[in-house]
Amino acid sequence: MIACFKHKSYFLILSSLLNFNTFLPLPDATWLSTNLGVIVCIECSGIHRDMGVHISKIQSLTLDHIGTSQLLVARVMSNDGFNRVMEAKCKTKPHPNSTM
Ligand SMILES: [Zn+2]
Repeated sequence: MIACFKHKSYFLILSSLLNFNTFLPLPDATWLSTNLGVIVCIECSGIHRDMGVHISKIQSLTLDHIGTSQLLVARVMSNDGFNRVMEAKCKTKPHPNSTM
């Protein structure tokens, strides 16, 4: 019974993440950085993997079983919230083709 509840809450959180347009800047953004709390597309997931797990831990929202607490981090942080923090001191908003 407890397992069913946990399973149900997991899918409720996951579906709420997948249904929020603000969490999904691209339709194919189904990869989650579990420590940063941001959702990215498959191309960006490769970039996150190249940075190393000490910077970003990437998991698939559709293929991996992600812990509820990690989904809640993404729900609370959101891509917009993460960008507001990271870009707080930028004079101009970086673009996908911007250099680091
Ligand atoms: Zn991307």
